[in-house]
Amino acid sequence: MDDWNALAVRFRRDLHQIPELAFSEVKTQAYLKDALAQMGIAARPMAGTGLVAEIVGKLGRGRAVALRADMDGLPVSEDTGLDFSSQHAGVMHACGHDGHMAMLLAAAAELNQHREFSGTVRLVFQPSEERLPGGAVKMIAEGVLEGIDEIYGVHLWSTQPVGTVEVGAGPQMAAADEFRIIIHGRGGHGSEPEATQDAVVIAALTVVNLQTIVSRRVPAQAAVVVSCGTIAAGGTFNVIAERAEITGTVRTYDAAIQSQVESAIGHIAHTTAELWGASAEVTYHRGVPAVVNHPVSVERWLNALASAVVIKPAVPKLGAEDFAYYLQQIPGAFMFIGAEPDDAVAYPQHSAHLNINEEALAVGRKALVAAALASLGASKDSDASHPID
Ligand SMILES: [Zn+2]
Ligand SMILES: [Zn+2]
Repeated sequence: MDDWNALAVRFRRDLHQIPELAFSEVKTQAYLKDALAQMGIAARPMAGTGLVAEIVGKLGRGRAVALRADMDGLPVSEDTGLDFSSQHAGVMHACGHDGHMAMLLAAAAELNQHREFSGTVRLVFQPSEERLPGGAVKMIAEGVLEGIDEIYGVHLWSTQPVGTVEVGAGPQMAAADEFRIIIHGRGGHGSEPEATQDAVVIAALTVVNLQTIVSRRVPAQAAVVVSCGTIAAGGTFNVIAERAEITGTVRTYDAAIQSQVESAIGHIAHTTAELWGASAEVTYHRGVPAVVNHPVSVERWLNALASAVVIKPAVPKLGAEDFAYYLQQIPGAFMFIGAEPDDAVAYPQHSAHLNINEEALAVGRKALVAAALASLGASKDSDASHPID
């Protein structure tokens, strides 16, 4: 383990103990600011609890690249038994964002030591990745991408072997939308269903009919998820419910498919209710868009990393990430860093038992440094022409 690795582990363990929820990352911001100050890097706050800093290369002016880490923890009570467990009751770095910040800090230390590059590396510590609307939107509104040519980010992945990375061009994570269906029926006595429009039965049929969107309404090649997360109706066993409410989420990679699913949900909800003389009220909220990697950035990154890590073909995930908003503005790419424990059960992201393999921190740091140097080394017009080789 070289110095950068030890540094990353220390940062990660310190940050792991002080997880904070979205837009409340006060201690975290102070920790990062202090760690950067000790490297001689001045940082300024952005988006409230976010932080931005720059490392200017000593070889002159050039391109500008941004490296992003997210900062927030989750409302989860840690149950890992680690001796550096969360000291904040009910809050945990259960998505590995402690590791993301640690890797970016260690990458900053490495890049800042000799600054043997031209151009600028902007370090972006973003609050609130987990809660909508995510911190990325606020950071962009406050100018985080101004003057930036390209942006890169990584996510630790606890069920992917350590020493491997996953990256590919195109969609990597899904658009995550939310829908709500309220069924207005007619309540009545449980013994006289013929005089009612039973909101419970209509809701149940609606949930079943919604399953046909994936199986019968979109092409089999399109990866789509329609999940009903809640269903609520009725107050007691012998009264037929007048009203039922269903909420759910939709995951898609493609904007046209997304629109198709949105209209299918409305159509199914309305027609199912009408079939029984009732009515439905449907609201559909588009959330974080899909994370779509730019091919030139991916190729640049793969070339820079080729001999350093095992590169696996990307398997797009149906989770969401607000890194998507940056990629809607400028070119860039998002990579998954394998962080599976060597000798323990690999719990998934957001689990109270999540424990990432700290060897992954070195892989992530190298990936960030490689992305920055490759991007800065690219000619000014390379994005407009052909990928570098
Ligand atoms: Zn998460
Ligand atoms: Zn995350």
